[in-house]
Amino acid sequence: MYDFISIEFWGAAQEVTGSKHLITAADGTKILLDCGLVQSAGAEEANKHFGFSPHEVDVLLVSHAHIDHSGNIPNFVKQGFRGKILTTAATMDVLSIMLADSARIQEDDAEYINKKRNKEGKKPIKPLYSIEDVELTLKMFHEVKINEHYTWNENISFYFTDAGHILGSACISIDIKLNEETRRIFYSGDVGRYKDRILKAPADFPQADVILLESTYGNRLHDITEDAEQKLLDAVKSTCIQRGGKLLIPAFSLGRTQEIVYALDRMRTEGKLPQVKVYVDSPLSTSATKIMRRHTQYFNEDILEYMEKDPDPFSFPNLKYTASIQESKAINDDEGPAIIISASGMMEAGRIKHHLTKYIEDKKNTILIVGYCEPNTLGGKILRGDKNVRIYGREFAVNANVEVISSYSAHADYAELIQFLNCQDPSKVKSLYLVHGTIEAQEYFADKLRERGYNHVEIPAKGERKIIS
Ligand SMILES: [Zn+2]
Repeated sequence: MYDFISIEFWGAAQEVTGSKHLITAADGTKILLDCGLVQSAGAEEANKHFGFSPHEVDVLLVSHAHIDHSGNIPNFVKQGFRGKILTTAATMDVLSIMLADSARIQEDDAEYINKKRNKEGKKPIKPLYSIEDVELTLKMFHEVKINEHYTWNENISFYFTDAGHILGSACISIDIKLNEETRRIFYSGDVGRYKDRILKAPADFPQADVILLESTYGNRLHDITEDAEQKLLDAVKSTCIQRGGKLLIPAFSLGRTQEIVYALDRMRTEGKLPQVKVYVDSPLSTSATKIMRRHTQYFNEDILEYMEKDPDPFSFPNLKYTASIQESKAINDDEGPAIIISASGMMEAGRIKHHLTKYIEDKKNTILIVGYCEPNTLGGKILRGDKNVRIYGREFAVNANVEVISSYSAHADYAELIQFLNCQDPSKVKSLYLVHGTIEAQEYFADKLRERGYNHVEIPAKGERKIIS
């Protein structure tokens, strides 16, 4: 037995992707919190190395299915991890499609890089992991129920609470015995909104001694005056009815896609939605919607009440989910107006790119951006108003209208994060570590927290180790 507990920060430390935090308990048990992919450009090397030995870790706790929190798990297994992976049943379901999709992307990326390397006479590289690694990984998952204690051993137990961020997302409390006392470490994962359209609000959590808190929007407030549904309806009317065009909505497969479909479903029920065809054109979104329907325990009262009248809030006449490539191509043969919801949200991959090549040059069409786009992505370039963009190596003029709805977000802003901490007595929190944010956002947020009585706020750097005694 040691007479201390340690926490090492191996990812999402002063950055927003690659979440990985390693706890070593007093009895030597090693607990990894999340195992995400670093998603910035040129991150291949960062994703290959963990900073610690995967085979030494006893248990991996996964907060939610976003790739920046879970996308490196198959590589972790490939490199020797043989412990248990614990998460909620909904996260397990979502990861079964997300990790398979991620493996395909890894294999495609490697193929693309190898074409170049081949021309340069260099040896081919291997993908970070393959679909076989994903299959092995999925067998290692075990379910943890929200709001139920999970005993790991006589010294350690876990308690998952609802994070309200995406389907299945959880915050994790870890109780560890230290010198006949118990220390409680709380890890927020990513924290959702208090007024999500589908999910419940983030839940209160038990008083913690140490908190690891996300800070993605540590220096930002969401626009709460924007009427997103009205903007969506206006875009449908101006594009599809007045101009007879196509309304393209690039959206994340899980979360944003269902929020948009649900908003349209409500408009349809209320008689506001004009007669127009709607396509959800992404195999991943189609699967994600099926999973969403199975886990209504995460839904808030509003949508559950709506479902008493309309049991399936993700389906209505004129809405079609397309799976095959043929069905997807058939959308383009239809010259009439339509709404096309397709992944990926940042327009870097997926079928949305094919639709853009078809519709971006015609001014009767609209690209409606409903999510965050990294500045260097295709979505980022269209968002900032570039007049020409390259898609599949070809130049296209951006003649379509570009509109933005900014209030759809899965992350709490700093006011909501402070609200999230209302269940805590700041004087009892011995350390509060900010993770998952840019240093600018974290420094701003740290000051806000100090004003609230959190006197021990720190912003750990990658590889830094903190001792809890
Ligand atoms: Zn997330």
